[in-house]
Amino acid sequence: MSPRTNQMLTCREMVELVSDYLEGRLDDPDRERFEEHVAECDACTLYIEQMRMTIAALGHIPTETVSAEAERELLDAFRDWSSTRS
Ligand SMILES: [Zn+2]
Repeated sequence: MSPRTNQMLTCREMVELVSDYLEGRLDDPDRERFEEHVAECDACTLYIEQMRMTIAALGHIPTETVSAEAERELLDAFRDWSSTRS
């Protein structure tokens, strides 16, 4: 099995890319992979919705939240989600 570096992003990578995505700074291939992951990942769908609401409320992207608190929330959400699926 080869490493799937050019395929699905991991949720951790999603967290790192979300601010670039929401600011339209991702290249087309990156944005496509990002959206592909979101389409199949409930945790990231929820995370991006929360980010959008936060941005709407603050008027900007809370970069510190993305790197620390939000990442922890996302990983918690993802753990819950994967445990209910298995
Ligand atoms: Zn995900």
